[in-house]
Amino acid sequence: FVKSSVIEGTQHEEDTDQEDADEKAMLKRELQDERKTLPIYKFRDELLKAVEEYQVIVIVGETGSGKTTQIPQYLHEAGYTAKGKVACTQPRRVAAMSVAARVSQEMGVKLGHEVGYSIRFEDCTSEKTLIKYMTDGMLLREFLGEPDLASYSVVMVDEAHERTLSTDILFGLVKDISRFRPDLKLLISSATLDAEKFSDYFDSAPIFKIPGRRYPVEVHYTKAPEADYIDAAIVTVLQIHVTQSPGDILVFLTGQEEIETIDEILKHRTRGLGTKIAELIICPIYANLPTELQAKIFEPTPEGARKVVLATNIAETSLTIDGIKYVVDPGFCKIKSYNPRTGMESLLINPISKASANQRAGRSGRTGPGKCFRLYTSYNYMHDLEDNTVPEIQRTNLANVVLTLKSLGIHDLVNFDFMDPPPSEALLKALEQLFALSALNSRGELTKTGRRMAEFPLDPMLSKMIVASEKYKCSDEVISIASMLSVGNSIFYRPKDKQVHADNARLNFHTGNVGDHIALLNVYNSWKETDYSTQWCYENYIQVRSMKRARDIRDQLEGLLERVEIEVSSNASDLDAIKKAITSGFFHHSARLQKNGSYRTVKNPQTVFIHPSSGLAQVLPRWVIYHELVLTTKEYMRQVTELKPDWLGEIAPHYYQLKDVDDSGTKKLPKGQGRAAL
Ligand code: ADP
Ligand code: MG
Repeated sequence: FVKSSVIEGTQHEEDTDQEDADEKAMLKRELQDERKTLPIYKFRDELLKAVEEYQVIVIVGETGSGKTTQIPQYLHEAGYTAKGKVACTQPRRVAAMSVAARVSQEMGVKLGHEVGYSIRFEDCTSEKTLIKYMTDGMLLREFLGEPDLASYSVVMVDEAHERTLSTDILFGLVKDISRFRPDLKLLISSATLDAEKFSDYFDSAPIFKIPGRRYPVEVHYTKAPEADYIDAAIVTVLQIHVTQSPGDILVFLTGQEEIETIDEILKHRTRGLGTKIAELIICPIYANLPTELQAKIFEPTPEGARKVVLATNIAETSLTIDGIKYVVDPGFCKIKSYNPRTGMESLLINPISKASANQRAGRSGRTGPGKCFRLYTSYNYMHDLEDNTVPEIQRTNLANVVLTLKSLGIHDLVNFDFMDPPPSEALLKALEQLFALSALNSRGELTKTGRRMAEFPLDPMLSKMIVASEKYKCSDEVISIASMLSVGNSIFYRPKDKQVHADNARLNFHTGNVGDHIALLNVYNSWKETDYSTQWCYENYIQVRSMKRARDIRDQLEGLLERVEIEVSSNASDLDAIKKAITSGFFHHSARLQKNGSYRTVKNPQTVFIHPSSGLAQVLPRWVIYHELVLTTKEYMRQVTELKPDWLGEIAPHYYQLKDVDDSGTKKLPKGQGRAAL
């Protein structure tokens, strides 16, 4: 667990306890004054009165007005926490952590005590916790253990405008419990003006508006579309830095890789600027950024320097960074897209909506007049951008949510009170998928396997892989693989000047072309054999932080195994057994090699490729299963393992027919049919 709070991170070891306490007290006093300057402060009493009077309130206020950090504290000060905890949900884990850290600072308490946070695989709360920031997904999971949320007195569904899948499901669930728990207060808070819709949904709940201060923002467009927005962003940042008056810069990027690239290039280019130009402090912020580094974006910029924050969408509304005067908006974000017809899901970089573009621009005008540089044309803005982002529920795989709802005893999904219902095709597909995974029976009821799967805070395919490991007696290996997969793509690192070494180190784990899943297992086990050595990680170009996280996750998965009464058993010598367990979860993701080196997915044929980072990229086995698809220049399969086609028939006979896995020569495809339309 990474439980260090922001305060601890900045303390010096030599401080005595007394100095420490004095410093904390001073900081607290300063912060108390700062709290009073936030726009929401003037409405404190009025807001509390409204909460007393009504059960449900919709709160609207400009980003940065103090909704997230202040409202839970007001409720605490007014005595609500004496009756039960105050929950405040966030769509993003970084936001939950960062805001909790801030509020614990403001209250002068240790993070994890009175104020804590809970995100997947990381619970930083205790018996003492009164104010609990959490991801919307975590509150959803809490319903499984406490269907009436009895331990809470207030639930604040924050950032409601984001309309994440979990938030949308929470709406339905909290609306339902509010009927038989009249003492439970519900606050739905949003940064945008679509409050009417929330109010309508919650039986005409009153809308409480917090007028924010906002300064004018000058919006600039490019004259012609940019061929390479990364490059354009770098050039724009440098131009602002060299030509514009003091003030920090915020750049919106799509993900960690992009941020790291730009970080590196900016560092390189500013080195050559000479001493006449002010220092440029580069601060990245994205979901997997280590906790210690997250606080850096909030540190005040030293006199004479300029800060540039490289952020994902997280800085659009979830986090407010003071001092931003310039926004650089390339106009893209990464979203999951799902095709309910084929059941295929892929991560891709998409243009943002007008609403997002305006939120982004607004970030520059919070403390004074600002400027926003859009790296697209005004024609693009007017004609190409959608007004609003489509709610996630309408563009995602619903299997996970359906499994959760079924375990909550909600069977009639078609009549669930959705604010915007998902396409019925997507619901059907989710039911089909869960049926294929044996989580549901033919009547749509939860099976024993399904009940066990629901205990794991993972996607159903991963949970199924774990539950299936019982049969193949390799649960020990499979939970290691699941943990490594859950960490994401940050296990290996590849410094620019040592790429060959890094690649060689990496290939060591692939000896015998075992496939990426087993390679991840090899990495984990080798690390374990060195007694979790940091040195070993350095030598092998492996990120020690990611490994520690994998170990944390693995510990938790091991605990959950016990809960669903699956013994931890190891079957390390039988790789086929491990691969069969993986196949039991991921048989939907099978693909067969084509003559030209591409692959074709077996069901719902589509052309895909092995990602160049895979250990099998040069091997090209005839049959593979993959963990996920990512669309960049091509549709790539990431994390790939070789498969024997008979396994599909053996493991998922209800899903694959003989003809699907007939291996007697690949049929020729008519010309031009290489790529099926998505
Ligand atoms: P809202 O939820 O209305 O967007 P917040 O409550 O998040 O507003 O922010 C209120 C103020 O608190 C902002 O000025 C912001 O800069 C500050 N703040 C929030 N989180 C942190 C943090 N982790 N460190 C420093 N300041 C923070
Ligand atoms: Mg907020």
